[in-house]
Amino acid sequence: MQRSFKRSGRKDQTNPKLHVRRDDTVVVITGESKGRQGKVMKAFPKLGRVVVEGVAIVTKHQKARGQGMPGGIIHKEAAIDASNVLLVCPRCGKATRGAHTVGADGVKSRACKKCGAMIDA
Ligand SMILES: [Zn+2]
Repeated sequence: MQRSFKRSGRKDQTNPKLHVRRDDTVVVITGESKGRQGKVMKAFPKLGRVVVEGVAIVTKHQKARGQGMPGGIIHKEAAIDASNVLLVCPRCGKATRGAHTVGADGVKSRACKKCGAMIDA
């Protein structure tokens, strides 16, 4: 059986990319954790989802799985849709959708639309 990662409404992309990456600081703009800032711990470009530190914590009641794997209540971040987060500019601290600029060396990088700071070092 083939596992499908396709989500309705999303076009097939050979090289899907998100506007955020791992280790970016983002702010959640919708949902229960609205307004909360956190670091991107994991990004799933194919799914269009991200795991943000401290956001969308789910509680799991885990059964013990033998030695070294005790049961109990585990708190874990769940993946949220990437469209629900905005990148936070490390310089001005504002949320931005990010502009793409091409530098003098021809390398594409992300920049803050508000203060113009380059987000990618
Ligand atoms: Zn900025």
